[in-house]
Amino acid sequence: MENIKLSELFSKNVFDDKVMRERLPKSTYKQLHKTIDEGLELDPSVAEVVANAMKDWAIEHGATHFTHWFQPMNGRTAEKHDSFLSPTSDGRVIMEFSGKELIKGEADGSSFPSGGLRQTFEARGYTVWDCTSPAFLKEDISGVALCIPTVFYSHTGEALDKKAPLLRSMEVIEEAALRVLRALGDTESKKVITTIGAEQEYFLVDKRQYQQRKDLIFTGRTLFGAMPPKGQEMEDHYYGSIKEKIGKFMREIDIELWKLGVPSKTKHNEVAPAQHELAPIFATANVASDQNQLVMEVLQKVANRHDLACLLHEKPFRGVNGSGKHDNWSLVTDTGINLFSPGKQPKENLSFLIFLAATIEAVDKHADLLRLSAATAGNDHRLGGNEAPPAIISIFLGDQLTELLYHIARGEEMDDLTKEVMEMGVATLPKLKKEVTDRNRTSPFAFTGNKFEFRMFPSSGCISEANVIMNTMVAETLHEFADKLEGAEDLQKAVNRIVRHALKNHGRIIFNGNGYSEEWVEEAARRGLPNYTSTVDVIPALISQKSIDLFSKLKVFSEVELHSRYEILIEEYYKTINIEARTMLSMAKTQIMPAVINYMTQVAQNVSIMTSLEKFNIDAQSEMLTELNTLLNSLKRAIDELEIVHKETIQIEEGLEKAQAFRNNVLPKMEALREVADKLETIVDEKIWPIPTYSELLFRV
Ligand code: ADP
Ligand code: MG
Repeated sequence: MENIKLSELFSKNVFDDKVMRERLPKSTYKQLHKTIDEGLELDPSVAEVVANAMKDWAIEHGATHFTHWFQPMNGRTAEKHDSFLSPTSDGRVIMEFSGKELIKGEADGSSFPSGGLRQTFEARGYTVWDCTSPAFLKEDISGVALCIPTVFYSHTGEALDKKAPLLRSMEVIEEAALRVLRALGDTESKKVITTIGAEQEYFLVDKRQYQQRKDLIFTGRTLFGAMPPKGQEMEDHYYGSIKEKIGKFMREIDIELWKLGVPSKTKHNEVAPAQHELAPIFATANVASDQNQLVMEVLQKVANRHDLACLLHEKPFRGVNGSGKHDNWSLVTDTGINLFSPGKQPKENLSFLIFLAATIEAVDKHADLLRLSAATAGNDHRLGGNEAPPAIISIFLGDQLTELLYHIARGEEMDDLTKEVMEMGVATLPKLKKEVTDRNRTSPFAFTGNKFEFRMFPSSGCISEANVIMNTMVAETLHEFADKLEGAEDLQKAVNRIVRHALKNHGRIIFNGNGYSEEWVEEAARRGLPNYTSTVDVIPALISQKSIDLFSKLKVFSEVELHSRYEILIEEYYKTINIEARTMLSMAKTQIMPAVINYMTQVAQNVSIMTSLEKFNIDAQSEMLTELNTLLNSLKRAIDELEIVHKETIQIEEGLEKAQAFRNNVLPKMEALREVADKLETIVDEKIWPIPTYSELLFRV
């Protein structure tokens, strides 16, 4: 195996700070940095110089094309490649890339979902360079292209992507956090950065088997499949030794990601057979979001090269673990203080308490929005299922920290407390041991020492979604706290009051117990915490008055933008189930039915031969034939019923009712069809069964 030099490889394909320092004139470099650091508007003359340097660098690395690269509302990434070629007046061609082309592109993205924001007759949209996320080169057999991270707007200025709102929300929380820090006496911090680390779970299956399953190809999950004799009950896969084939795949993943400057850090086997995880080192939120999009893309591309297929769906297999994407979220100042880290200085601890209280209050107030950020048709199969967080939002703080907060809230004299707590005081918190805060893996939203980990998020989702909500809702609360802190006579007392108020009114959101248990579902109901088990139930939360107030007040989404996103969510939901229903019907009618009939013919022939021989007992075969026949009839009925209901539902006018009808009427019929087919799978000759089984998919790689 070839040796690799990580230091040479890392960021090799990124037009990062180091390259810029080398290649840009000092003054341009300085000006660009000022723009990035202070969030200013980019000077066109600076853009011109940067574009030229970028082009030269890209061409030296073999690039022929450039593309504006963005996150449209379908949750993936989009790109349209243009070559650097440009004609001259005397009929030659030269390599050109202007500042204008760098800063702004026109994308006729009329086929991207826009939720009515763009009619096709005014389909113009603009992509605008996000100079805070570095440009990079994508290289594969199709060539090398310079990718420029951009945001995507309509010509009327509405965001048409997932990135623009994220950038807005980062500014919004920065402003609110700085207000709080100033009120607490911090005069040094000039910036507050949202940091994100996204841990990605995925499954790997054999490519040939994948290609034999229309359900995996069209929907990303298995719509049929009986449980194999062995599932994940032996728990022998988690952190197990990595098989050679997978190891080779993971090595190439690392190399590809490192070249792209994605700091892929840990890789291990996950709980379910064939399930794995990749975690990068955290980064600034928008960079982390771009990088996660790249991670998903590279996983799939490299899997293909290794004759594997990478499944990013939240629940590719029934009966074993699903996949999530743990979104680790924190706030860090430019002076290097993690605002969720209980610090050594009393001053830092006051801010820690405030940021903690703000998160508790915000998550309780906007649990519906946080739940919504993780709501997809695919994730509905995962949440509340096998070893996945329930659909109920709660916060895990750990007993030690929870107790401490309640002490502070009660305003108890330090003498009343135990020695340990006494030594902490209010302003000097104890060093919270990581093990203490990190033990509970069943919470959807856990404090893990110096960050929060949102574990409900879907594996295939674009993390911008969750972080827009996190940032905005916490910013709202931080502003409210800043109102109270600015002008407070005694800061300690003011902080105490804020903590007390947050716990009194929002303490119900804290839950340190087992989130997977049935008792928690009941307890949560008693506490009045919402439990949205389905995406369709929570979609309306996006356009509630509370949501409109929150997002428009802080200018993260206008009401029009919220409505467009609401429509996209509805559409996405029912389109997903529509495709699933159609795929099921196709598989059941053209693969499963014929296979069953085929097998029945074999059995029937055997019965007839044995009967003609007159000396054999044919009870076994006859019984089997009867059972097959009964199930075949049930299968046919289930197909017919699904077909009828599907036809009715698809005709319902666009809107929430349509999505609800898909959930209430179509999903149960799909379920019924699967049940019969899965039963048949367990009795039909496996050589005749037309699609690879769970045993093959999960245990053969
Ligand atoms: P584990 O969850 O397995 O204990 P870690 O806590 O070390 O692992 O990290 C999990 C993820 O959280 C990693 O992607 C890591 O980079 C990220 N992370 C660590 N610190 C922060 C932070 N301050 N902000 C955002 N993400 C972070
Ligand atoms: Mg984790």
